[in-house]
Amino acid sequence: MRKLLLSLLGLGVAAACARAPAPCSVAFTVRPDDRGASVTAAIEGGPTTAWVGFGVGPGAAPGLVDQIGAIAGFDADGNELSLQPISRGGYSIETNGNPWQLTYHLDLRPSSDQGSFYRSSTRGSDYLVLVGSDAWARFHSDPGAMAMPPEARADGPVANATVRFQQSPESPDWRVVSTAWEEAPNTFAMRRHPVGSVFAVGPFEVIDQAVGSGLQIARHKDWDILPSRVDTLLGELLLSHQEMLGSANDHQALVLLSPMPDTITTQGGLRTAGMVRDQTLVVYAVKAASLPPDHSGIVEAMAVFLGHELFHLWVPSGVQVTRELSWLSEGWAMHMGRRAAVASGWVDKEDGTRRLNNSYRRYLNIGGYRAGSLPAASVGHEAQRSVLYLRGELVFRLLEQEWNRSNPDRSFERSLWEALTAAYDGIEPLDSVAIRAVLADLTDPTTVRRYVEGEAPLTPDTLGLAGR
Ligand SMILES: [Zn+2]
Repeated sequence: MRKLLLSLLGLGVAAACARAPAPCSVAFTVRPDDRGASVTAAIEGGPTTAWVGFGVGPGAAPGLVDQIGAIAGFDADGNELSLQPISRGGYSIETNGNPWQLTYHLDLRPSSDQGSFYRSSTRGSDYLVLVGSDAWARFHSDPGAMAMPPEARADGPVANATVRFQQSPESPDWRVVSTAWEEAPNTFAMRRHPVGSVFAVGPFEVIDQAVGSGLQIARHKDWDILPSRVDTLLGELLLSHQEMLGSANDHQALVLLSPMPDTITTQGGLRTAGMVRDQTLVVYAVKAASLPPDHSGIVEAMAVFLGHELFHLWVPSGVQVTRELSWLSEGWAMHMGRRAAVASGWVDKEDGTRRLNNSYRRYLNIGGYRAGSLPAASVGHEAQRSVLYLRGELVFRLLEQEWNRSNPDRSFERSLWEALTAAYDGIEPLDSVAIRAVLADLTDPTTVRRYVEGEAPLTPDTLGLAGR
C-alpha cells in the first residue's frame, strides 16, 4: 500500500510538473557577428516536450521575429533533436526532459523599409543592442503560448538565466553594458527570464554619474551631440525628477547613448528616438552635420527630449497603466520633460512657455478640438496619438495650475505620483477608472470631466497661455 501510494504520489508530481509552468535554467551564449549574433541557449529542467517561442517587444519592428533563423535543438551528445514549427516564431522540441541546447541566429541588419535600431551598418563603429523581449528565446511547458502572436507571447517561466558574451578579437575596444548583474567578465546573471533586459555591445565608454546617484551612462564613441556635457545634462535632469517625485525604483539606471543607424538621416535639426526597458533607457540621436555639437537649439531640444525619456523610468517602470492610458504616460512624460529641462536651467522659463505655446498651436493644427475624451482616443486610430500626447501634456499643465490654486505649498507632481503609487499594487496596471478616481481626488470631478474626458475645449485662457 505504501509503495502504491508513493508511486501514485510520484505520478501526481510528474503530472504537476508537466502541467504547471516548469521553470528551467537557461544559459545563453552570444557571439556577435557582422549580421547580428549567433545565440546558444543551454537548458536544464523543463518538460519532455519543450515549447519554444520568440517574441516581439513593444516598439520593435514586427518583422524582427522573422529575422531569427538557423533554429536547431541538440541533446547533450550533440545529436539533433526533432523540431516542429508550430506557429509564427513558435516551435516544439522533443527533449525527453534531459539537458539540451537550442541554437539560433539573430539577423539584426536594418532592412530598407524599417530602420532597426538594434544594430548600425557601419563596420568599425558597429554596435549591437540586444533587447531581451526580442533577442532571447522563451521556453514554455505547454503549447498555449505558441497560439499567441509574437507581440503577445508571455515571457515563459525561467528559474534563473545567464547571458555570456564571446567577444570577437577583431573588436578589442568593444564592451558589454547592462543593468544585469555581471557575475564574471562579460557574463550576466538574472533570477528571471531576461525578457526585460537590455545589453549593449560595442565601443561604449561608461561614465558613472556622480550628480544623479545610481545613474550610469554608456556613450558610443560616435555620439556627437553635446559630447562633453551630455552626462551632466542627464544627471541634472534625473536629479530634477528625483526632487519632484522622489527616487524611482532604488536600483540603478543605465542610459545608452547611440548614434542613429546609418539608414536614418535628418534633413535639418535633430532626430531622436528613445526606448525604456526595465531600468535601461536606450537613446538614439542624429543631428544635421552642418550644426555644431553645442548648438543652442539642440541643447534645448535634447534637454526636453531626455527629460521626457528619463521620466519613463518612473512611468511605466515604477507605475504601470493600461494601454488606453498612453495619453497619461506620454502626456505626463512630456509635461515632466519640459518641467525638468526648465527646473535644471537647460531651458529658460520664457523659452519653455514659448515652446508650450508652439505645442498648443500644433495641437490645434492637427485637430486637437476634435480629440475628445483622452482615454477613448487612445484606443482609437494610431494617427490620433500625437494629438493625444500633446493634449495629455496640456491637461497636466492645467491640472497643475488648478492644484496650485488650492495647494500652493505642495507639489502637484509629487502628490500625483504618491497617489498613483498608493493605488498601484505592483501587478495590475492602473486602468481609466483608477486614474479617474486619483485625478478627481486631486482636483475635482468636474475638471476631470471637462479636460480629461474632453467635454470642454482647451483654450489658451484655461491653459494660462493667453496674451503671450
Ligand atoms: Zn515617451
